[in-house]
This record gives sequence, C-alpha cells and structure tokens, in this order.
Amino acid sequence: MSASESLPAAPATNAAIPDAMIVAEHVTARYGGKVAISDVNLRVATHKVTAIIGPSGCGKSTLLRCLNRMHEVVRDARVEGRVLLGGADIYARDVDASEIRQRIGMLFQRPNPFPTLSIKGNVAVGAKLIGHRGSELDDLVEWALRKAGLWEEVREKLNTPAIALSGGQQQRLCIARCIAVRPEVLLMDEPCSALDPIATLVIEDLMRELAREYTIVIVTHNMQQAARVSDFTAFMLAGEDRRGQLIEFAESDAIFTRPTDERTEAYVTGRFG
Ligand code: ADP
Ligand code: MG
Repeated sequence: MSASESLPAAPATNAAIPDAMIVAEHVTARYGGKVAISDVNLRVATHKVTAIIGPSGCGKSTLLRCLNRMHEVVRDARVEGRVLLGGADIYARDVDASEIRQRIGMLFQRPNPFPTLSIKGNVAVGAKLIGHRGSELDDLVEWALRKAGLWEEVREKLNTPAIALSGGQQQRLCIARCIAVRPEVLLMDEPCSALDPIATLVIEDLMRELAREYTIVIVTHNMQQAARVSDFTAFMLAGEDRRGQLIEFAESDAIFTRPTDERTEAYVTGRFG
C-alpha cells in the first residue's frame, strides 16, 4: 500500500465546512412543473474555490443561479429551501435581490462585456450605479483592473471599445466589472469554456489569486481544471427522474483520487458524461 492509499478518507464532508460563506439547505429548484435540482445541501468555504462538476444537464448552472437569486429571473422558476450568506437567508422577505447579486457576482461561459461601452465604461458600470464618481471612480477602475490582472494590458487604451479585446481579456474585464462593486463571492459558470488553453491558464491563476480575498464557486465540465483550481469539489448527477442531486462533496484531491461513491468514481475516471 502506498502512502497516499493509507491516508484516511478526507474528512471534508459537506457538514465539515465550519466557516462557510454560503450555506444552501434543502434547495429544490423548478422550471414550471419540472424539478431541475432536488434537495441540494452545500456549504461553500470562505476564501476557497469550490468546484461543481457533473454531466451536462445535471443542474450545475441552476444550482449556481440559486446561490445569488438569478434563478428566479426565469419565468415560472421557483426555489425552495434556504440559502444563507454570512448566516442570513438571501430569500428572506425583506432582502433585496439586487443587493444579493452585488454581494455575489457572476461570470458566464461567454464573456459578456457591454458592447457599446469602453473598457473603462464596462468596469465602471456597476460602480456608478452605487454612487462612485470622478477621480474616486477612476481609482476604483484601476484597482479592479489590477485585481483582474488586466491593468498592464489596457492602461493605455481605457477609452477604446471593450469588444476589441481578446476573449481571455474580455473575461478578465468581466471579472474586473464584478469586483468593482466589492462583492464577497464570485460565481463562475464555465468561465473558460470559450477560451483557448493559454487564456484558460491565465484565468485559473487569477482564480487562485482571487481566492485569497473572495469566495469562489466555479462550475466546470473540465475535471482537470477542477482538480487544478479548486479546494473542494461537489459532484452532481441527475437520476432517472432527471432531477439533479448532489452526490458527493469532498476536498478536491479526495474526489479525484479516492471518491467514496461509485457514481463519482465512474464520472471522474471518464466512464460517462
Ligand atoms: P447544467 O448546467 O448542469 O448543464 P442546467 O442547470 O443548465 O444544467 O439544467 C438542469 C435542467 O434544467 C436541465 O434539464 C435543463 O434542461 C433544465 N433547464 C435549464 N434552464 C432552463 C430554463 N430556462 N427553462 C426550463 N428548463 C431549464
Ligand atoms: Mg450549465
């Protein structure tokens, strides 16, 4: 038996994340009459990267959108259960969904800069809405672009159209736009799937850097990526009833080298999905 085989199974079950920034409890999400995810319990560790993996259609994006109240923008979509951010229920009656989306920013598969706005205009767009102006706004734009690892590449052309940037630069611009409103959490839904391998590695490095200050949840279909960037991994799967469930949660190393559920093992060894 090798040293690694003799290690005990990782203790990081979902319940063993004491300092969770987000706690999802019994989350069930529907589109009209269709249940997309059923009774999901997930704890997202503070200042760590949590990956959500699983085959297409198992509800990864749906779960992610339940975490910042984006699910409910779809017509007839419903969420049951609770999602706590810093201990407070984001679905409580007196909570403003737009404030939650500011505190929990989101990044999508295709970079989506505002096509008519400049680089600076894109980074400033949310910050302006919450009242930043003038030189303070300029400082904030520079700060956010530096955090997103883009400043040196764009400092000479801040007023040029954002859509002239490469895909990888656009995705970092979207990260800067998120960060400029000072979120606590960044949700990323397959943020590299439209990028080339070099741009992907740049974003992955950036995620590790950002995790010092932000809590990150990334959905990815790329298991190597999940293994490289994440501290914890949640594996989801839809059963015969087509309802997505969380099958296994553990430290990423354990999920990829010694999963406990045979369905997880079948997936991470490439036998389906
Ligand atoms: P994944 O991100 O893992 O590929 P999704 O969360 O996108 O999975 O989808 C989960 C299930 O919910 C799928 O069956 C999908 O068809 C369904 N679904 C997703 N978005 C919508 C929508 N806007 N309206 C109706 N059904 C949807
Ligand atoms: Mg998806």
